[in-house]
Amino acid sequence: MDCINDIPSLRAQIAHWRAQGERVALVPTMGNLHAGHLSLIGEARRHAQRVVASIFVNPLQFGPGEDFAAYPRTLAEDRERLGAAGCDLLFAPGVETLYPHGQEGHTRVEVPGLSDLLCGASRPGHFVGVATVVCKLLNLVQPDVALFGEKDYQQLLVIRRMVEDLALPVEIVGVPTVREPDGLAMSSRNGYLTPAERAQAPALYHALCAAAQSVRDGGEVASVERTAREALAAAGLEPDYVQVCAARTLAPASPEDRERVILAAARLGRARLIDNVNV
Ligand code: AMP
Repeated sequence: MDCINDIPSLRAQIAHWRAQGERVALVPTMGNLHAGHLSLIGEARRHAQRVVASIFVNPLQFGPGEDFAAYPRTLAEDRERLGAAGCDLLFAPGVETLYPHGQEGHTRVEVPGLSDLLCGASRPGHFVGVATVVCKLLNLVQPDVALFGEKDYQQLLVIRRMVEDLALPVEIVGVPTVREPDGLAMSSRNGYLTPAERAQAPALYHALCAAAQSVRDGGEVASVERTAREALAAAGLEPDYVQVCAARTLAPASPEDRERVILAAARLGRARLIDNVNV
């Protein structure tokens, strides 16, 4: 599998495939790949003849004091895994390639409203960074389809909304969360956990599953959320939010909402874990 770092080579390869009438899928990532990322590659293969993955640890989506410098960078192993999973091309640009005027000077894409809730409230500017880099990657690769994990549910909605608002000609596909056998959602940040924290971490998913069952049983939303926060704290996690939301807007769920999702974030040692479940 080829790895390309520069924009002209990327465009030339994509143009070559297009000239052959092939469909192209894009899977954007920050690398340190695990089975969750590889399931996106597998799903991408079902949608297109050619699969492009990108690896870019995007400085624009990290706040001051967050883990940009510490974020695991494992390009050689990632490249092996992508090749074995049937990816056709890896695009791994440097920061100066995507942000030639510096990240401060770069045009930004903002999806208002959705970007300010939940993780956006805890990480101001995060979703502007995400929307900006994904918009740029979509313009560079011009894929027919781009795939994103439901694990980052708010991110998936922000991207769907950006694509709709800016009329970008791409189909966005969400892919179910891949979990460890004990329920913990796979994440590059799980590597920050000590063995003791790793044993505590599945409490996040278990609290969400219990909350979903309580909502299905007719439990009152505020009390379900409180119980879940208490369960997280009892398990040694520091809850950031637990919220039952309307699945399409992430507004606080009302009894009339037919599709609901419960989202949570919690801190555990050096890691900030997020997860969600459908009700
Ligand atoms: P990241 O490298 O964390 O930016 O993630 C790249 C893509 O992989 C995003 O679309 C994520 O939502 C997706 N992803 C991350 N973890 C998982 C997982 N456990 N299951 C499915 N998709 C995931």
